[in-house]
Amino acid sequence: MEIFYKESKRARNVRIKINFYGKVEVVYPAKFLLGGKKSAKKYAEKFVAQKMPWIEKQVAKISRKNINPVLKIDSREHFLIHKQQALDFVTERVEFWNQKYGFQYNEIRVKKLKSNWGTCSSKKVLTFNYKILFLAPHVADYIVVHEICHLREMNHSARFWALVEKEIPNARELQKNIGALD
Ligand SMILES: [Zn+2]
Repeated sequence: MEIFYKESKRARNVRIKINFYGKVEVVYPAKFLLGGKKSAKKYAEKFVAQKMPWIEKQVAKISRKNINPVLKIDSREHFLIHKQQALDFVTERVEFWNQKYGFQYNEIRVKKLKSNWGTCSSKKVLTFNYKILFLAPHVADYIVVHEICHLREMNHSARFWALVEKEIPNARELQKNIGALD
């Protein structure tokens, strides 16, 4: 957990602020009567260490609340909060499914795509919408397999679908329900 320390001339006590996105900021007085300026930050750090269990509890509460996709999904903040998590998730799923296909790819990326769940470029870069994180696991897996298969077939031909259906037999049915997918 990253904690931001801010010195304040007006603060009289150490204050821990946790904002809506779970960012933890610690404001501490520039001077303490005992010890002087040098020890002010150290004192604040000690105080934070004592309060850690409480801080962790509050942050966990906030991030649980922020999972709610209705709240502010598609905002830049929502994307930034979940970007790494989405990339880890999708990387794991690509590696899992590509054990079966064994295709070559150069990079996996996660973006805040406007109207697409995933794309596969001619440079063999797989890009996924970060919101794949919030889909049902079997739907997310279909999207991953779909893009992996584009590494071999850059089209939606019968050959492409046969490749997808090897692993996801109900792929076409899933496709009907999810909308745009390149
Ligand atoms: Zn496609």
